[in-house]
Amino acid sequence: MSIDFEFDRNHLWHPYTSMAAPLPVLGVQSARGCRLTLEDGRELVDGTSSWWSAIHGYGHPALVSAVQAQAAKLSHVMFGGLTHEPATALGKALLKLVHPTLTRVFYADSGSVAVEVALKMAMQYWQGRSEPQKHKLLTVLGGYHGDTFAAMSVCDPNSGMHGMFGHLVPKQIFAKAPPAGFGRSLAEQDLAELRALLQAHHQEIAALIIEPIMQGAGGLRFHSPDYLKSVRALCDEYRVLLILDEIATGFGRTGKAFAYEHAGITPDLLCLGKALTGGMLSLAATLCTDEVAAGISSSPAGVFMHGPTFMANPLACAAALASLELFAENRWPAQVANIEAKLTELLETARTLPQVADVRVLGAVGVIEMVQTVDTAFALMAFAARGVWVRPFGRLIYVMPPYCISDSELGMLTRAMVEVASLEGIC
Ligand code: PLP
Repeated sequence: MSIDFEFDRNHLWHPYTSMAAPLPVLGVQSARGCRLTLEDGRELVDGTSSWWSAIHGYGHPALVSAVQAQAAKLSHVMFGGLTHEPATALGKALLKLVHPTLTRVFYADSGSVAVEVALKMAMQYWQGRSEPQKHKLLTVLGGYHGDTFAAMSVCDPNSGMHGMFGHLVPKQIFAKAPPAGFGRSLAEQDLAELRALLQAHHQEIAALIIEPIMQGAGGLRFHSPDYLKSVRALCDEYRVLLILDEIATGFGRTGKAFAYEHAGITPDLLCLGKALTGGMLSLAATLCTDEVAAGISSSPAGVFMHGPTFMANPLACAAALASLELFAENRWPAQVANIEAKLTELLETARTLPQVADVRVLGAVGVIEMVQTVDTAFALMAFAARGVWVRPFGRLIYVMPPYCISDSELGMLTRAMVEVASLEGIC
């Protein structure tokens, strides 16, 4: 069987592309470790971990055999009225990993749905606490939480991604983006607007949702643990639930298992996805506290009103369990620390390029921010010609490699990033 590129071009939607002018696509035949093998036999070192999910690399034998063994027993069964070992074993493993105040797990099928679930839980919670007027959401500019309707309502409305749906999504309350810089010290002024919005609107706000420490698809910007700590304190002061969207940051990406650990706080609701299955299959989860679950139980409906067909899919749960077992072996802290050190050292030269606005690194995330928007098609081909898979967006050329990447593969990635950032025609 070969890839029919013409069919692909004419009939298959790819993410965020046009059918009239599709971006070039490369055909992937297989993937192992940190490398993709293309249909024409070329090998590319992968700098994206399949949109930040394949933290153990591709085709890890533990994940492959977990899915194979599970497929032979039970590939899927409805979760309404039935349960199974992969769901319970994964739930236990997850709850062992997160802060002990998080005790309840809702399995969703994608990150966007995990966010929808968290937002709905927050609304139902306040209904259960006899404060149904608390149904608005507070968030910050620069955020990205997914492409479904409620998730879109808390994405940055100025990003241009979802503006055309503005009339359909509920109007939420936005504060300015967190002050940039992981190491930046916090000034009183940095929180003034957020405090003022809470003061003015807390009686109608159900929850504040934020990506902790790193805003991902909204711009790959880092903020300080102190900022996050203050957000938690403000939520407590104004009786607003805190939803942390760790779909991008969860499972070690920023150097801690969960980004909230940098700040020593814990959320009321936590959204996980992407690396939950080590990138093997689609699975996400929304975790919440006993208090949130109790509030939902007291709501007029009495039950939480959500139940996808493929909820707790056993194959995905088995993959996630195997991924968490690998994660628990604890090789990742040293791997991520090494990636952070190498990215910091090797991307530094890009700082001197005239078309580069900023270079920033945190954990296993390395970003070159250009002065202008990158020509994605041009960049993709330039990277492929250098033997790497790096997919820029907006003004950002970035990598989030699998944690098992070798130093020489990291060297290839960073050399290519600096070279491509310096090319004429890149912006
Ligand atoms: N939330 C965050 C922080 C994300 O980075 C993403 C995806 O990039 C999502 C939610 C949506 O996840 P999914 O693409 O699995 O729907």
